[in-house]
Amino acid sequence: MSNFIIPAAKPVAIKITGTDKQFPVRRVYCIGQNYADHVSEMGSDPSKESPIFFQKNPDNIDTSGTFPYPSETSNVHHEVEMIVALQSGGSNISEQDAYKHVYGFATALDMTRRDLQGAAKKNGKPWEIGKAFEHSAPMGIISPLSQVGTMQTGVIALSINGVEKQRGDLKMMIWSVPKIIAYLSRFNKLEAGDIIMTGTPAGVGPVQKGDKLVASIAGLTTLEVVVV
Ligand code: MN
Repeated sequence: MSNFIIPAAKPVAIKITGTDKQFPVRRVYCIGQNYADHVSEMGSDPSKESPIFFQKNPDNIDTSGTFPYPSETSNVHHEVEMIVALQSGGSNISEQDAYKHVYGFATALDMTRRDLQGAAKKNGKPWEIGKAFEHSAPMGIISPLSQVGTMQTGVIALSINGVEKQRGDLKMMIWSVPKIIAYLSRFNKLEAGDIIMTGTPAGVGPVQKGDKLVASIAGLTTLEVVVV
């Protein structure tokens, strides 16, 4: 038995289509400002701003289909995003080799305390309090690359209570999945179990308790989440 002084946290895992096996999560990387229309709606200039990286914590992932409205905020936004799940990693991975490290893809949400993120940005402070909180990463089911391909194009959309709010296409990403993996692996040694949230198209906005969010990416399993 272990000699830990407290119980160790259980590993966070994501379901996979067509199997009882699960994908264990090691780290959660996120890219921001990866769709030009979303950069513009956030008040930045996509011709001047580069995508940026931040992280959530693995235990921010929630696969329950509910999103508890978080504390200390009155403006929580939805961001529909495709996630990439890595089956292997490394440092200085080339763009050409990037897909060899990808196990699969899923539909997810990057839920954001926009008011706190905005205040942090304005003051030049870190974003974590707006981004990395419990339940902030509702997550769908992973589809293996071997079944769905490299997912370079396809509609990505989100509706609330049946009304479409976000709609874009994966091909609109400023940095493609291979470019994201190559870039991140220059700074961090990527590892099996790491996931990357690849950014959101325009149309982000607030959610309210009782809202039903439907996040979809063509070819992947749809994610339905109720705000409670
Ligand atoms: Mn995001």
